[in-house]
Amino acid sequence: MNNFLSPEKKRIFIFFLFCTSLVVISFIAFIWYISYKGLGEISSFLGLAFTLIVAIVGIFLFLSTIILVFTMISGKQSKLSIKLRGLVTKLLFPIVLKIAKLFKIDKDKVIRSFIAVNNELVLESVREKGVNNLLILLPHCIQLENCELKISHNILNCKKCGRCDIGDLAKLSEMYNLNIKVATGGTIARRIVKDTRPDLIIAVACERDMLSGIQDTYPLPVIGLINERPYGPCINTRVSVAFIEKTLEMINYRRQHERT
Ligand code: SF4
Repeated sequence: MNNFLSPEKKRIFIFFLFCTSLVVISFIAFIWYISYKGLGEISSFLGLAFTLIVAIVGIFLFLSTIILVFTMISGKQSKLSIKLRGLVTKLLFPIVLKIAKLFKIDKDKVIRSFIAVNNELVLESVREKGVNNLLILLPHCIQLENCELKISHNILNCKKCGRCDIGDLAKLSEMYNLNIKVATGGTIARRIVKDTRPDLIIAVACERDMLSGIQDTYPLPVIGLINERPYGPCINTRVSVAFIEKTLEMINYRRQHERT
């Protein structure tokens, strides 16, 4: 996969995902250990049923991690691995972040590694299915801070003066008939997604907004591009329009929707 879709090495996330599985399985085993005796004293059937449930959860978690890691390394998707994306995104990732913190690993670095893995899983699944309703979601800070034009309702209101990336994105929107929306916050972004019901989102955001966006919109597939922040967070941020074009190419969108 191209480097711009993998802003950080996937192995950081894979390593912490393994650690998380071990911690969760150990925790489950601990709960079993302290509960089994008590339950066994009440009823041997209860003790056995509890052991069975604990064993199933533990094996499921272990196998899920193995399948996901195999998918990440080989790039070969299965329907199961697509479903498991939800398990990682919603349930395991918060624990992954906590464990990485114990190792004093920068949170943004782990999120970028997770985004690399997420992008790979999403890219493979949308390549198979194709994309009909694409939404490109941008943060408002991409627009030049002192530009007075209102582009949050319609990006084509931009006069394309070239002082920020909105101009080139507006041109791209015209060229490929793209649905590009600018969100002024998380609530607006969620509303746009709800109204649009896309089958793929290409989202531009900082690491933390991207993570919450991917978690909030699951099971919708999101390809995440991290914005550049040459002036610090939330002001005059940048995104490579070439990267967005390249992503359109990778999902075969460009060829299908280019205006003649
Ligand atoms: S390209 Fe120019 S007109 Fe368009 S949003 Fe940026 S600063 Fe405003």
